[in-house]
Amino acid sequence: FQTIVLIRTTTRINHQSTIVPLDPLNRTAFEPTSFREPQKKYSTVGSKAREYKLKMLQRRDKIKEEFENSQFNFIKEGYPNFGIITSGVSYNYVLEVCDKLDIRPPILKLGTTYPLPEKLISDFIKKLKGVIIVEELSPYLELNIKALAKDINPNIKIIGKETGHFSEAFEYNVPILFDVFREIYNIKSDIHYNSLLKDRNILKSMLPKRIPVFCPGCPHRATFWALTKAVGGKSSEIAFMNDIGCYSMLLLNNEIYSKLNPDDLLLSMGATLGTGSGVSLASKEKVISVIGDSTFFHAGLPGMVNICHNNEDVTVIVLDNSVTAMTGQQSNPNTPVGDSKKKIHIENILKGIGFEDLMINDCFDAKNCIPSFKSALETKGPSIIISRGPCALWNDRNKRRRGEKIQPFFVDQDICRKCHTCMRDFYCPAINMEDALAEYTDENNKTWKGYSSHISPELCDGCGVCSIICPYTNHEERSAKDVIKPYKT
Ligand code: SF4
Ligand code: SF4
Repeated sequence: FQTIVLIRTTTRINHQSTIVPLDPLNRTAFEPTSFREPQKKYSTVGSKAREYKLKMLQRRDKIKEEFENSQFNFIKEGYPNFGIITSGVSYNYVLEVCDKLDIRPPILKLGTTYPLPEKLISDFIKKLKGVIIVEELSPYLELNIKALAKDINPNIKIIGKETGHFSEAFEYNVPILFDVFREIYNIKSDIHYNSLLKDRNILKSMLPKRIPVFCPGCPHRATFWALTKAVGGKSSEIAFMNDIGCYSMLLLNNEIYSKLNPDDLLLSMGATLGTGSGVSLASKEKVISVIGDSTFFHAGLPGMVNICHNNEDVTVIVLDNSVTAMTGQQSNPNTPVGDSKKKIHIENILKGIGFEDLMINDCFDAKNCIPSFKSALETKGPSIIISRGPCALWNDRNKRRRGEKIQPFFVDQDICRKCHTCMRDFYCPAINMEDALAEYTDENNKTWKGYSSHISPELCDGCGVCSIICPYTNHEERSAKDVIKPYKT
């Protein structure tokens, strides 16, 4: 059909993993061809657009015909004459619930939902007394099937969102379908999902919260630690524009980073800059916009141009971790990837746009980053900080590939003061607490009693920031007196 195909997957499908047996891959060598093809279909404006619209409608009708007999749309015969129409992952829930209730209703599973195979649907519903439409979110199938039923089978009972049996919100699951099917098919069952779910929720409330956190050695943790210190007690005076990347996790760590107001705004890739500009015009708070290096290249450049051109009062922090970390460490124009590609330097772009006073921080030198954040927040007009430090996972992987050692840090248990500043202030998952009570008396005869901190060497990435934060470690002149030390000293 020479058409674009959209394969629409949903959360539950996207979050599965399994072994997929593949047929042998039949690779054909790529042969460049001429771009100039006879149909000349790539200029789609003006009178050409009118011509293509007609062609597109003809193509749609042909596709619809094809879908009437497609292997992706099929009927599982059954009884009684109260059927089910479903698509996507909901089909799996339907099968599981039918199995649990021991019922075998006729099921129409749609694998292609646009254009709808109307004849197939009409044939399916014409003899039914009723049909349950099981589709997540908007009632697309339900409304279309209702329209078809008006002519084909006006008395059919259609159970779905409009009857209040299902919600338009959120994903479905087995318990949701179970209750509806039990009611419609009038089945008694010993399974009571509601009480099971209640028990599950009680158990869940007894467990400690396990929010997703930044990895050990993550540069973002160091950046946000320094930024939090710079904001100090003035969090009511800042508005925080977040963006899409690992740093979006600030929102889930709202309690930890509450001083930054991480729940102020998080919309879509690159939105931090445009919204930051708008908010800076309309609000009395000082705007901080954070953006990762990948997002900067993907969707940040127009926003940066606007901030510079309009002289907006926004502090932009570019979180430069060298790689597209969140989606699996793909390279971006800022990643050093070898000779065939050219690394584009963020600072060169920003200077080219017209930002003259750039600040570039080594984010792992966390204490020394605080003054630059403070100065940016005090600046009227645009201020830009590149907060630089490689993604820990990417960096460690590269080190392993090069055969370099990852040097962890350790807490000297004999002199740890058990103050827990390292844990309370920094939340690195590699730091935890010893089980046994311990005591240490320092040179001033002060005795410290409690549970010492401990660094798990297998988790520690050796970023060293905890040794900067520990009040009893002098990271600038390392010595045996330091509580947190690199293993090599
Ligand atoms: S390692 Fe340092 S910050 Fe952590 S508990 Fe010990 S003395 Fe305190
Ligand atoms: S050096 Fe400290 S902060 Fe860095 S990963 Fe290790 S334990 Fe965490």
